[in-house]
Amino acid sequence: MKRFALAGNPNCGKTSLFNLLTGSTAHVGNWPGVTVDKKEGTYKKLEEPIHIIDLPGIYSLSPYTPEEVISRNYILEEKPDCVINIVDATNLERNLYLTTQLLEIDVPLVVALNMMDVITKKGDKIDVEQIEKKLGVPVVPISALKGTGGDELMKRAYEASNTPRKGKTVLNNSSLAHLIGDVTIALEYENVENPLFHAVKLAENDELEVNDHAKQSKMVEDFKKTFKDDTFGTDFEAIVADERYKYLSKEFKNVYTKKEVEENDKKNKKEKITNVNMTKSDKIDKVLTHKIWGIPIFLVILFLIFHLTFSSNFLFLGAFIKDDWVSFANTPFEGIFGEGGINSPGVVLQNLLGLLTDSITTWVGNGLASIKGCPEWVQGFICDGVLSGLFAVLSFLPQILVLFLFFSILEDSGYMARVAFILDRAFRKFGLSGRAFMPMIMGLGCSVPAMINTRTLADDNERTATVRVIPYFSCGAKLPILTAVAGAIVANARVGNADIITYSMYLLGMVVAILSILLMRNTTMKGEVPPFIMELPAYHAPQFKNLMLHLWDKTKHFVKKAFTIILASTIIVWFLSHFTWSWKFLPDSEIDNSILASIGQLLQPIFTPLGFGSQLKQWGWVFGVAAIIGLIAKENVIGCFGTLAACIAGVAVAEDETGITYVQAMIAATGITVPALISFIAFNMTTIPCFAAVATAKAELSSKKKFNYTILFWLATSFIVSTIIYLIGSWWWTSFIVLAIAAIVITIIVINNKKQKASAY
Ligand code: GDP
Ligand code: MG
Repeated sequence: MKRFALAGNPNCGKTSLFNLLTGSTAHVGNWPGVTVDKKEGTYKKLEEPIHIIDLPGIYSLSPYTPEEVISRNYILEEKPDCVINIVDATNLERNLYLTTQLLEIDVPLVVALNMMDVITKKGDKIDVEQIEKKLGVPVVPISALKGTGGDELMKRAYEASNTPRKGKTVLNNSSLAHLIGDVTIALEYENVENPLFHAVKLAENDELEVNDHAKQSKMVEDFKKTFKDDTFGTDFEAIVADERYKYLSKEFKNVYTKKEVEENDKKNKKEKITNVNMTKSDKIDKVLTHKIWGIPIFLVILFLIFHLTFSSNFLFLGAFIKDDWVSFANTPFEGIFGEGGINSPGVVLQNLLGLLTDSITTWVGNGLASIKGCPEWVQGFICDGVLSGLFAVLSFLPQILVLFLFFSILEDSGYMARVAFILDRAFRKFGLSGRAFMPMIMGLGCSVPAMINTRTLADDNERTATVRVIPYFSCGAKLPILTAVAGAIVANARVGNADIITYSMYLLGMVVAILSILLMRNTTMKGEVPPFIMELPAYHAPQFKNLMLHLWDKTKHFVKKAFTIILASTIIVWFLSHFTWSWKFLPDSEIDNSILASIGQLLQPIFTPLGFGSQLKQWGWVFGVAAIIGLIAKENVIGCFGTLAACIAGVAVAEDETGITYVQAMIAATGITVPALISFIAFNMTTIPCFAAVATAKAELSSKKKFNYTILFWLATSFIVSTIIYLIGSWWWTSFIVLAIAAIVITIIVINNKKQKASAY
């Protein structure tokens, strides 16, 4: 099968084009740098199917970043039948820099001029024919977003793939051209493939080349000596780059025509002069990436998202609303849209799903009860064991989807790229580059791809530190814990609001991440912060289809996990909790004598400093057990509560089964306090995330020692953070005094030290 590779700058639309061509459900978006892994698919609309590979986004073919090495090696070594170079037409000269390098490789090349919809909308013009003439390869205007031009592009690429192409260079400075020409001939003579490309790279002193072609590299040095020194200076790489830019700015000056200037002038006369040359995106950026307001704006946006997802007091309207307006009392919809306020969309959807799952449980229960001779334990196992556990987890799918819908919108509109940009300034102070923030943001979805994405970080210590804190950006699987416990706190203790609690816990995770990074980068994980260059894509409305694909991906992932690992854990928990060591079956009311209970009671003291250990009443071991099986997968925590809630005396689990009611039951049975519940959430957020993430960390970290310390780090952090939260929460008044005294003592010591130093001079 023929293979076509997509190459281009980051954010030029490669992934969008890839999805357009392959119709694949691969995730599209710009968590910037998301395509470090190569994505593959098939295009089927030509006479033969074509294999398409989405290469990582790159600015050049030098070997500085992992993306550059991957893309370069793929093109040189795997030899695709055609390279499709995607060029962002709104940023033509910058993007063509890569094109001038691709031209030097002996491979059929077609340029896809993307974002033409933006050009048309602005009323600008691009002379496609002229670009084609200058580059000497086919150029096809497309819009990956609107889905236009893809088939024409593939047709031209297919034609091009049938004829081999010899590389050509745009470097026409006479001395340089002479050098490169001579080296090319020498390499050709040695039967080196892609002689022109290698000749240019050798002339640049590219490190990979110098290693790979030691012999020829010596030859180049000899060649260089035959030229006068002052022609080249010493930095050949800079000379070559400069030549490329000179060529581009000279030759491509006239291919892009902005919309009639006079017309613009007329329009702009009324506006302030400073705004004349600003695009809409620039104007938005002036606000959203503001030096001071950028971060607060981000936090507010984040809060609004949490509010829309989790709040049961939408826009805090509760105070103005009469209960019976929305409560639908005495109908099947009772409480679904709100009680004492309006539920946010996320909560409404969750309640509606709950209505469905409750009916299923009732229906299955009645069905089993009507079968003659069906033992009671089978009913208990299926309804309370399996279904409760599964539904407790699944009931959070709507909120996960609503939350990720908002995240995808932020991502697709181009805002997330700005967040990385705003935070780069702040991150530098902590010893990280903005690059490290991208995998962290991905961690909000799932730690596994996020950890893999740290491959974009050049410094190994920076990478290790980042892998370690990724789990602190709370992932989708931890959401059920957050929501269920927060919901139960609000319902039982009448403290706060679910959205505020979840939001603060997300922030807590980020604060712990920042503090840990600060600590690591100043002690065991020191290193240089490499510069971070990023091009901000223009803002645009997110595409409905992409959003849906993204959500569908999430749903698939979540449901698949529910029916495999979570189902299995639920079954194991049920069996362990309903049998004794001598394998005798226990009815629900006696599970305190079960295998699980005895293990749980044994481990319970470990969690005492954290607030959910020995101080809890009879059922207290459940929290420890849930925390421990949560190490396998975080969904298990609420699943475990679901399975065990039915057994807890005095809990009627007949109706309204959600994770929240289960946690409420746990609170009633164990007498756990609010600070201990918060500490429980914090423990789950900061400890070993799940087996999948552990395996990924093991594969991604550079040494066994780093991996072992990572596990230790997760365990230690979770114990420390949770203990602190529990202690401060339980004795905040005392803690406050202790902290105040400590602060005063430290200040006195610091002042004294300074005085001593001053007097020493
Ligand atoms: P990649 O980083 O090269 O894989 O680029 P993506 O496919 O992730 O696209 C980057 C951003 O540009 C996304 O937000 C896309 O929706 C957007 N985009 C891609 N192609 C087009 C296009 O033809 N027109 C417009 N207006 N936006 C596009
Ligand atoms: Mg991409």
